[in-house]
Amino acid sequence: MITPEKPLLAEIISISQDTSDTKTFEVGFVDKKLQKKFSFMPGQFMMISVFGFGEFPISISSSPYKTNSIKFTIVNVGNVTNAMHKLKKGEQIGLRGPFGTGFPLQKFRKKNILFVSGGCGLAPLRSAIYAVQEKKSEFGKISVLFGCKTPENVLFNEDMNQWQKENFNVLSTVDYPNKNWKGNTGVVTGLFKQVNFSPENTIVMICGPSVMIHFSLIELRKKGFRNEQMFASLERLMQCGVGYCSHCNIGNKYSCIDGPVFNAKDLEKLPVKEN
Ligand SMILES: Cc1cc2nc3c(=O)[nH]c(=O)nc-3n(C[C@H](O)[C@H](O)[C@H](O)COP(=O)(O)OP(=O)(O)OC[C@H]3O[C@@H](n4cnc5c(N)ncnc54)[C@H](O)[C@@H]3O)c2cc1C
Repeated sequence: MITPEKPLLAEIISISQDTSDTKTFEVGFVDKKLQKKFSFMPGQFMMISVFGFGEFPISISSSPYKTNSIKFTIVNVGNVTNAMHKLKKGEQIGLRGPFGTGFPLQKFRKKNILFVSGGCGLAPLRSAIYAVQEKKSEFGKISVLFGCKTPENVLFNEDMNQWQKENFNVLSTVDYPNKNWKGNTGVVTGLFKQVNFSPENTIVMICGPSVMIHFSLIELRKKGFRNEQMFASLERLMQCGVGYCSHCNIGNKYSCIDGPVFNAKDLEKLPVKEN
């Protein structure tokens, strides 16, 4: 971990507008030596300080194999994320982390991989998808399922096209289609029937709203997936990121240090449906 307690200065290198309320910020530590030392596991998060406004947890959405810079995909939902959205290229933020558990990808070699994402839950998973893409020959078949409210909310179109070109099975669904929408309609669990491999030898990684995670796990268990094969990332309200403040407490776990990535065996014992 580069910095557990003190936010260190980072500069915004570029900003892309992904949807009307979502931007991806590419940032780098001002101290170039720190950036060189930086590494993370897909699924880990950092704490971003927007000076004068506050701090918030955010997953890393870039590749663990491209650490010259770090990308965060941020939805503008409230006070601090709104202040972040107003920042421009060249301005500075504070960064702590990386924190928490990631997806243990090294244990998933030779397995088929099923990614299940809802809304901006695709952001943390993108980092894991990039990692699998980088070492494609080490994995079996790969499916990326994505659900969101409307076609305007679809994230990372360019990535999705590229994943499709690399023979990933990429399927999207929206709750409210428009007349140009060519994908599926309905909730993301409705896409499970289009996944062309059996539960044996398959690992599932899920990120999205709690209710989506809850119902995805139920449906996947019905299809024969065992808890040991399924991992989900939870976005609980949190403050310190290092297990001191107990804001992210769920059952007998702290989401910041025991998670945010949990195995479904642990999730079954936790009150994950309510957020
Ligand atoms: C481990 C982790 C990873 C995350 N990754 C991402 C990501 O990649 N992209 C992204 O856009 N967001 C992510 N979030 C959510 C992000 O932290 C919140 O959207 C942010 O804290 C909101 O801050 P705010 O001051 O702008 O909103 P506030 O003004 O504090 O609140 C606005 C609304 O958002 C809710 N909210 C506030 N904080 C959180 C929180 N920590 N988790 C869930 N809901 C919250 C509030 O209940 C309220 O409804 C992540 C959260 C966690 C815990």
